[in-house]
Order: sequence, then C-alpha cells, then structure tokens
Amino acid sequence: MKSSTADHYRNPRHRGSLSGPHVHAEGLNPSCGDDFSIDLQVENGTIVDVAIQGQGCSISQASGSMMSEAVVGKTLDEARGLTTTFKLMMGIDEGDDPLDLERPGAVLGDLEALQGVRKFPVRIKCADLPWTTLSDALDQAEA
Ligand code: ZN
Repeated sequence: MKSSTADHYRNPRHRGSLSGPHVHAEGLNPSCGDDFSIDLQVENGTIVDVAIQGQGCSISQASGSMMSEAVVGKTLDEARGLTTTFKLMMGIDEGDDPLDLERPGAVLGDLEALQGVRKFPVRIKCADLPWTTLSDALDQAEA
C-alpha cells in the first residue's frame, strides 16, 4: 500500500535524532524557508538507521519523510541510486534514462507521489532539499 504525501506530512517517519555514532548533514531552501537535517548511521556500507529534523512546507517535509523511509536498510550505493532516480524523475538532472529499472534504487514506491510537484517548478527545490542533504551525508559516510 502506498502512503500519500499528506500522510507523510501529518505523520513524518523517523523524526528525531540518533544517539549512537552517525554522520549529520543540514540543508536549507531559502526560496521557501525550508530547513532539513539528517542523521545517518552506517554500518559496513549499509544505512542501518536514519533520523530527520526540520521544518518548512508540506512538500519539503513529506519528501524528507518518504526519503527517510526509502533509505533505511539500503547500501550507500543504493541510496545514491535512489537519489539519482529521484532527481531524474523531478527533472533536476538530465542525461540518463529515468526509466532504467536496472539501476540500483530505480523503484521509488511512495516517492512517485511527488512526481506531481514537477508541475510546480518553484516547489521542486522543496522536494529536492532532503535529497541534496542526503547526498551530503552520504559523502561524509564514504569519506
Ligand atoms: Zn518548501
């Protein structure tokens, strides 16, 4: 069963912070006033836990909640693949085939609900904020 964007906004997943060893990244979307931060706990190249904080519009917060659910249990490579697929779906990145289902993380599940945001270019940055922040955290986890 898919969860709607509104459900993720009302009942955000993985909200809070991690107490054990983790990497932390923060992001801002000044055009809307959204902020987002993420804690990732990585063991042996796999994301074993995630916690998110932040405030802002429903799109940024719902996107963050969906992202947090999507990356738990994924390897760093799979999380990168998901990020790539998301940015292709939203038209943020080009030059690859968004329908390449062989790519790790090609199946977005609930995240496909955010596809509608493409119709509102000003809101794309809101949906992208958690993913850009995730990329920062993945960079740190790989460092
Ligand atoms: Zn926003």
